[in-house]
Amino acid sequence: MIGKLGGHDDTIVAIATAPGIGAIAVIRLSGTAAIAITSKLFPSKDLAAQPGHTLHFGALHFEGKVIDEVVVSLYHAPRSYTGEEVVEISCHGSPYIQAQIVEACIASGARMAKPGEFTQRAFLNGKLDLTQAESVADLIASNTAASHQTAIQQMRGGFSRELQALREQLIRFSALIELELDFSQEDVEFADRSALYQLVEAALVEVAQLVKSFKAGNVIKNGVNTAIIGRPNAGKSTLLNTLLNENRAIVSDIAGTTRDTIEEVLNIGGILFRLIDTAGIRESSDLIESIGVAKSLEKMREAGIVIYLFDVAELSAAEVLAQVASFEAEGISYLLVGNKVDLLADAETKFSSIPGILFISAKDHSRVDALRERLVAAVMGGSVNTENTIITNVRHYTALQEVYSSLQDVKRGMDEGLPGDLLALDIRRCLFYLADIAGEVTNEDRLDYIFSKFCIGK
Ligand code: GDP
Repeated sequence: MIGKLGGHDDTIVAIATAPGIGAIAVIRLSGTAAIAITSKLFPSKDLAAQPGHTLHFGALHFEGKVIDEVVVSLYHAPRSYTGEEVVEISCHGSPYIQAQIVEACIASGARMAKPGEFTQRAFLNGKLDLTQAESVADLIASNTAASHQTAIQQMRGGFSRELQALREQLIRFSALIELELDFSQEDVEFADRSALYQLVEAALVEVAQLVKSFKAGNVIKNGVNTAIIGRPNAGKSTLLNTLLNENRAIVSDIAGTTRDTIEEVLNIGGILFRLIDTAGIRESSDLIESIGVAKSLEKMREAGIVIYLFDVAELSAAEVLAQVASFEAEGISYLLVGNKVDLLADAETKFSSIPGILFISAKDHSRVDALRERLVAAVMGGSVNTENTIITNVRHYTALQEVYSSLQDVKRGMDEGLPGDLLALDIRRCLFYLADIAGEVTNEDRLDYIFSKFCIGK
């Protein structure tokens, strides 16, 4: 199966490192002629005679001149990233040198790689399954520690493995049920219905969890909208500054935006919190009054989470409770934060009727750490656990929803005592989507689409 991106016979070349000036850069070649092409430029050693996984230092020549002194890494097929003959040339990081080397490789018979083509070849050669290949894209694009962890986890195949196990069991059942169909006259049951039922029930729980994790996974990738709400002088600006001083996301944390177009963004525990309307907080010191109640409700609904900050000396427990009731009525997720505890020693007693309040002093920076922890915990649904498999990919998400609904159909079918041939249909539908996730039923166009999202050199 070879996509439109080109056949395996071509040897492709691209700069594998980030664009710009660095200490070193890596030019990667993959394909049958990778070593032969490099040898033409690297006269000091007979590269073709060298074993794989070795490094060779020497000068790289092109058009009678030395371009650079480089280190050549050799990988013989199939023990390479793509499964093909691969050469990586580490050179000095000047863009001029990099361009010269790529040009020299092309002049010697390679062609420029298309985006994602290295990884596509790895996939076509069975080095990665599709979910793993897509995680490579996520890994390249990952901005924060948490999204990096998620991508690494998927690439190592945690997610694929879980689904593979389910698939194997379902295949076994569907084979047994289909065998029954061959003996339909005799009214036998080879497939143990209660074992199948148990498998389907367990799988439903697992798949539901994966489907749910999409939301958390998306948050990790894209950040969560956060609003700090409270009366004038509650301490919102003070809290904001404290958080920004320690957690302001650096520009490179944030994908696809430039400094002037983005709102304030915090990076807490690897999760990006995008602060809504921080300009409003700074200028008017009162979001609710400045933009009107209806508008502020709209803002709060836009937020993934609202930090409700109040002055413990100013507000009564009843006033806070009224606020809580309106959050609840609106289905807004919120954190209750009582500020200025330095002014009121027995704040906890005053508000003891309201569970879950976090007491801080924004001015003294006291307990702001606990607030950060609460924010992360709220996003992760109770705990930050990067060991859990998290779905971050829309394609997986939709396929998993289909897996879930077909499993439900299997279960319902068994509840209603459906005959084996009808059960087998639903099991097959489920198997189709499971295979789809691993990239085993897929067409060239869709593959091209997936890989075209990669950057060149990967
Ligand atoms: P905002 O209107 O909600 O943005 O409130 P500000 O951040 O402007 O704070 C209002 C006033 O409360 C300022 O004078 C702050 O210095 C003061 N303030 C904020 N946090 C605390 C705190 O934790 N303790 C005390 N004592 N004062 C605070």
